[in-house]
Amino acid sequence: MTKAWKVVVSGIMVGSTLLAAPIQDAHAANGPNYQGNETIKNERLHSYEEMVNFLEQVEQRSQHMELEVYGQSVKERDLYLAKFIQDESNPTILFLTQQHGNETLTTEAALNVIKKLSSNGKPVREILDNVNVLIAPRLNVDGAEGDVNFSLEDYVSGTHTRYNANGVDLNRDHIDREQPETKALHENILQVYKPDYMIDLHHQGTQVTLGEDGPLVSGSILYPTNDQVPEDVLQGSKQLGSVLYGAIEAKGYGILSKYPGGTANTISRNGLANEYGISTLLFEMRGMADHYREDYVLGQKSNGKLIQQGVTGMMAVLESIADDSIYEADVSFWDDLTESYYQGE
Ligand SMILES: [Zn+2]
Repeated sequence: MTKAWKVVVSGIMVGSTLLAAPIQDAHAANGPNYQGNETIKNERLHSYEEMVNFLEQVEQRSQHMELEVYGQSVKERDLYLAKFIQDESNPTILFLTQQHGNETLTTEAALNVIKKLSSNGKPVREILDNVNVLIAPRLNVDGAEGDVNFSLEDYVSGTHTRYNANGVDLNRDHIDREQPETKALHENILQVYKPDYMIDLHHQGTQVTLGEDGPLVSGSILYPTNDQVPEDVLQGSKQLGSVLYGAIEAKGYGILSKYPGGTANTISRNGLANEYGISTLLFEMRGMADHYREDYVLGQKSNGKLIQQGVTGMMAVLESIADDSIYEADVSFWDDLTESYYQGE
């Protein structure tokens, strides 16, 4: 996982003045993608080993956090759950990241949140006194290491893939649970800790726009869209989205769209809402660490902003559950939120 890729742009050199325009945009999360002549340095992201070391160090230092190994991947890597549980009668939220191994900045953001929650300040105490926080970073640990039973030869960087080691999309396995990663998530987290809320963090391609001809988006959100989802569960999902959207808009990190997602229960956003009554929210960030499609891959110039976007969203949601303001969140913004559009191919 230490492959640094110098991206070779065939033909013309792109001048720095041309590159400057999107970076100086007010919505700086919309930096150039890999095709914008960037170097991809995936070694700056936490490798599996670095992530485990980080989690173990935090556990040693923190009075609040307890680490649990809740299962193993196909390649027998341990799966870790960071738990901040002070009062079992408090509402519980689960942040799940990287079901898709090439969607990396979601985990970087989650590790950042873990670090924040392990500090001793008053704002953190107010959160942890009132909310139980579960963070399951990087469900697809094998895909994230590129340690899989198929070739990544066609990938831009050859370091990360969406699929698990068996070539299965884990976010289509929430009914059958045939893969050890999804089975462990359901049996050892969802059915044990019974979260009330879940935010599922992902990444999408780089060329997604707000509506057909709007600006590139820095992220997209969606509630469960299956019509079997109970009304109160759906309302909680829409409130999660309202809080997260409001916080990110206020900080000016980027532009969020409504994700045009389907209704299948095999996807966690729908399946978990139906099966367990969890209010779920999908949160998609812009661009991926690696893919066989070049227009999906993001260089690292936007990484800091995108990680911050994730942290801002997660912390705002925690604060709103802690002080009960989430129950007053206005969900009518969803009616006006523009769907995203993919200008690819
Ligand atoms: Zn994904």
